[in-house]
Amino acid sequence: MTALTVPLTVLGATGSIGDSTLDIARLAGLPVYALSGFGRLDKLFDLCVEFRPSRVGVPSGKVDEFAKRLKSANLAIDVVGGQDGLAELASDKGAGKVVAGIVGSAGLGSTLSAVRAGQTVLLANKESLVMAGELVMNTARTHNAVILPIDSEHNAIFQCLPKAVQDDNTAIHRTELGIKKLWLTASGGGFLHKSYDDMKNATVAQAVKHPNWNMGSKITVDSNTMMNKGLELIEACHLFNLSESQIDIAIHPQSIIHSMAEYVDGSILAQLGTPDMRTPIAHALAYPDRMESGAKSLNLFDISALEFIRPDKDKFKSLTLARHAIQTGGGACIALNASNEVSVSAFLDGRIRLTDIADTVERVLNDDELGAEFGRHFDELDEILALDKRVRDRTDVYLRKLTD
Ligand code: NAD
Ligand code: MG
Repeated sequence: MTALTVPLTVLGATGSIGDSTLDIARLAGLPVYALSGFGRLDKLFDLCVEFRPSRVGVPSGKVDEFAKRLKSANLAIDVVGGQDGLAELASDKGAGKVVAGIVGSAGLGSTLSAVRAGQTVLLANKESLVMAGELVMNTARTHNAVILPIDSEHNAIFQCLPKAVQDDNTAIHRTELGIKKLWLTASGGGFLHKSYDDMKNATVAQAVKHPNWNMGSKITVDSNTMMNKGLELIEACHLFNLSESQIDIAIHPQSIIHSMAEYVDGSILAQLGTPDMRTPIAHALAYPDRMESGAKSLNLFDISALEFIRPDKDKFKSLTLARHAIQTGGGACIALNASNEVSVSAFLDGRIRLTDIADTVERVLNDDELGAEFGRHFDELDEILALDKRVRDRTDVYLRKLTD
């Protein structure tokens, strides 16, 4: 089988990563083995009609209804439900590649299940590495799973690293490879040139818009608070086996350079392209070959400037919080992720201000009661989910204080 005839499982098929992946599948005629969706089940149904997967995952309460609907359309597709169903799809070897495109902590169980089954995982769900980076990476090593990053920055860095590191991230520490540090680029989001007060008064409609990328609402809000870059910093530490001090962040508002690797001889290797998720996804789908993605090629003569700006740590305190979390330990990263997720959804519900998100995460990271867990490392999914739940409950308490 060539890379392009390997069947795909797309978890989170109805979202933005799902859209980009299935666009490429359409363009290249890739076979689809399984799909999953959570909210927009009409869209998931249409995708089933179009791609004729063997299996599909839906929320647990929707299995019978969805199965009936497929049956009446004469589609023989096995329907599974809930987190157990997602874990089953993720580990099913009927697919040769699993796209982890679910948003937030809901993606952790299936990501872990895929790596445990030794799958090739195209990882978009950065939250699973933030919550359980060591567990996911160690499990991948033990079970010979391959993790190919499709988050654009991490995919860019992957492309700029030597083959030895692409094959095994522990090789990054071999001095003869000469890797000095990594540069994560950030767009700076929609508030880069606005004041803190503008951020404070941002409407939901403003915060779900991004100047350069078209993405789901959670990651777009994260980009506007720059928590996205904080999560990506932690993601990069795990994917590339480096400490946070070896990763620098530069705001690059044009989103043309998607990230860089710096070597000891002064060389900085960068990956450039138009801001279109189909490029990193196609890279990972075809790796180590290359394929068409449908993305527009970059016209170098249209670029008038490539700017790089140091992030304003006062305005974007999420970056400091993320560095603090990974320095502290696995528990603090779980807390960072969970308190952010709960706060982002409170913001999207119109209950708090955009700037309350980072303030709330900070309060949680300073919480004495939870604090005893923050320095711990977690190697069991159940324990990670238990702390995630405690943090969510505690975050709700802080949010209620803001809104009462
Ligand atoms: P999205 O909101 O557009 O889509 C999310 C998908 O997850 C949908 O299919 C939805 O049905 C599913 N989902 C949501 N809640 C679920 C639950 N509780 N159980 C099961 N499935 C659930 O999000 P997105 O923008 O596609 O982002 C997906 C992931 O990819 C995120 O982790 C994000 O950080 C990462 N990512 C996205 C982009 C992008 O361009 N959109 C870029 C880089 C990384
Ligand atoms: Mg990214």
